[in-house]
Amino acid sequence: QAMAAQREELTPMMAQYHDLCAEYDDSLVLFQVGDFYELFCEAAETAARILEIALTKREDSTGTYPMAGIPIDSAESYIESLLEAGYRVAVADQVEDPDEASGVVERAVTRVVTPGTLTESELLRSDDNNFVAALAHDDGSYGVAFLDVSTGDFVATGTGTRETVRDEVARFDPAEAIVGPEAPEGVFPDGCMVTGYDPEAFAADAARERVTDYFGSPETHLAGRAEVRACGALLAYAEYTRGGEHGRLDYLNHLTRYDPREYMVLDGVALRSLELFERRSVHGSEGAALVDVLDETACALGGRELKDWLRRPLVDRERIEARLDAVEELSEDPLTRDTLRGLLADVYDLERLVSRVSRRRADARDLRSLKATLDVVPEIRAGLDDAESALLRDLRERLDGLADVRDLIGEAIQQDPERELTEGGIIADGYDERLDELRATEREGQQWIDDLEAQERERTGVDSLKVGHNSVHGYYIEVTNPNLDAVPENYERRQTLKNSERFVTPALKEREEEILNASARADEHELDLFREVRRDVGEAAERIQNVADALAVVDVLVSLASVAAQYDYCRPEVGGNAVEIAGGRHPVVERTVESFVPNDLTLTRDVPVAVITGPNMSGKSTYMRQAALVAVLAQLGSFVPAESASLPLVDRVFTRVGASDDIAGGRSTFMVEMTELSDILRDATEDSLVVLDEVGRGTSTADGFAIARAITEHVHDEVGAYTLFATHHHDLTAVADDLAGAKNLHFRAEREDGDVTFVHEVAEGAATASYGIEVAREAGVPPSVVERARELVVENAENAAVGDDASESTATAASADGGRADAESDVLDELARLNLAEMTPIEALTTLNRLQR
Ligand code: ADP
Repeated sequence: QAMAAQREELTPMMAQYHDLCAEYDDSLVLFQVGDFYELFCEAAETAARILEIALTKREDSTGTYPMAGIPIDSAESYIESLLEAGYRVAVADQVEDPDEASGVVERAVTRVVTPGTLTESELLRSDDNNFVAALAHDDGSYGVAFLDVSTGDFVATGTGTRETVRDEVARFDPAEAIVGPEAPEGVFPDGCMVTGYDPEAFAADAARERVTDYFGSPETHLAGRAEVRACGALLAYAEYTRGGEHGRLDYLNHLTRYDPREYMVLDGVALRSLELFERRSVHGSEGAALVDVLDETACALGGRELKDWLRRPLVDRERIEARLDAVEELSEDPLTRDTLRGLLADVYDLERLVSRVSRRRADARDLRSLKATLDVVPEIRAGLDDAESALLRDLRERLDGLADVRDLIGEAIQQDPERELTEGGIIADGYDERLDELRATEREGQQWIDDLEAQERERTGVDSLKVGHNSVHGYYIEVTNPNLDAVPENYERRQTLKNSERFVTPALKEREEEILNASARADEHELDLFREVRRDVGEAAERIQNVADALAVVDVLVSLASVAAQYDYCRPEVGGNAVEIAGGRHPVVERTVESFVPNDLTLTRDVPVAVITGPNMSGKSTYMRQAALVAVLAQLGSFVPAESASLPLVDRVFTRVGASDDIAGGRSTFMVEMTELSDILRDATEDSLVVLDEVGRGTSTADGFAIARAITEHVHDEVGAYTLFATHHHDLTAVADDLAGAKNLHFRAEREDGDVTFVHEVAEGAATASYGIEVAREAGVPPSVVERARELVVENAENAAVGDDASESTATAASADGGRADAESDVLDELARLNLAEMTPIEALTTLNRLQR
């Protein structure tokens, strides 16, 4: 405001700077001054601190203020640092020639660089999407949209619950999000830049208009106003990031709307704990995630597509079978696979190329890359000539080589064009008559000059006479001092050097003029022609994108088939009424250990719950996760690491891991665990797969046990979900004994000469010995101590088995503390007021835990 008040007193350039800052007030404005981008005042201080560049001062008639600058040539890396520090960057370029400007040079923001809308940047990984999300609310429903500006991928979905919003967001893991009025909080992951964006962009009418402009009537694409609002706002934002000059993004042709129920739900917790995309570093070592062992794609298109399949496994049996048919066919045909992979390796990133073409940022080399890709499409298509499965046949049909586009580029653009667009060397000979003429004039002039030297030597008899060229004086004839007598009359002196003189002739100047003219006109004409070609190619954006889609899917199928063949995966049966895995392996762990022990698993509708006991490091987590991964793989259409596998169509995988060691986001680990568990209790169905690993460790043993038991009972009695529950509490085996639909499984360890080895083999029933105590005995702990330990285990088990009593005894212990009298009466009051009829078991337990504390 102080600035605004003083605006009148600023120099015109600084007034322009402050106006741009006010217009792009959520960004740092980089202000072009000649070869530098400058920042002033507070922004200069911020940038200097983040970029570790010098903070200088600028002085003008109005005063002195801080200034920092970065050279335009290396701006990109600085911009990236600013993004990483959590800023947006608005790039204000000089948009008129400073020499022609009257008064202050005009500047305009040509792009706003934000984490979610990167298009060209080292931060952008080629085999990964980079999404910006928009979240809108309308009358109780939520609309969420995700856009990758660099590829044109645009998807939207809608839901009535905040939890589903959070789950869908977790799948796409956006780098940035804009939210409209009344959007729910806490749905975006850490590290995602969230901004409340212009409510007008989210307004129903404006959003509708924008969506219609891009995709036609919203009703054919979207369900509900919230989705329209989200999509409209996202389009507005994407346009905004292109600065004032440009409007529409022509390459956004496809808007895909999906219903969250079309895919297996994998929430953020499951994605992380199953390590689908990222492996949590354990003991500081980074290992592979599922995507890494699965990804043998040959091109960036396939790499991104595979991630999309992985993030959204299907629940529709027909679609799954279609993919499996294709994978099976390719897995049996190593020759076709190799051929296709070889060809796919020559496929450029068509999506990003098209997006660059449409944003008018593509250069001539980009177009050649596009052509090179279109050149291999017919070969890839031919590779599928004998395909039998419906999906492969359909893909074959979609692999259109776009001969018109390919030929246009082939005829218009030189083989190995210059990167710079303004200096010629782009357009091929023979494409344009006028260009050919200009080039001929240039060449003839050049030839005339080349011949000049010989002519003039003969005419003057001076053998050392030379014709040369420099950028200041142009062409000249150089004669050394001893020969100056021989210089003819029509030579005009231009330059005197120490040992020689340089001359020109009117004819030479005339030719020079002609060459320069022709060359400048040719360059200009080439640029025009190039823009025309680029525009024409841009018109084919949608067709190119369709080809890109088909190539991506072929690449993924080939990749899945190679993995299946190489690592001995089997085709899963999906849609059954039980989980039956024979000889199952963990796809990631099996690649890291020397000999992986395969294990069976059976969970039926009648006995859907297994409680798995065994000492630490015996293989419980690996076993459970491999079951979940087999389900995910099967439903994305992949073969699975097993001898045979038959699975139900799983609607959702829940995995919850006891958060004993890490404190997440400042909430107590126990709270985190309980919040996650309440999701399961609320949302799991009989088609869900629930994996619980050491849940209940976040609190005292007695509480932990009580909660574990209550959850197991609830899942068993009320939900009937396929459930695997690992624990090293032996007490829990009693629970499985009590429940008709639950069974015990265990992992054991073997001792040989006092050494402990894990056999990693699952077996029916509960583990017998309390393993730690056995180890203690082996290690030579005195028998009396070992005996006492045994007694304590039994006692604990008894206490725990009667859950409530255990809690009560802790409560009694607390009341023995006289100073707690007041707190106690508060607790009693609250207890009396609890409405048990309306509480879920888990709420009751959570409350109980709090009261106990
Ligand atoms: P737990 O959950 O019982 O503590 P984990 O499942 O974490 O045990 O397994 C511990 C380690 O044992 C794993 O990191 C892996 O190296 C190895 N392991 C697990 N299962 C197997 C198996 N089936 N075959 C071979 N090694 C295994």
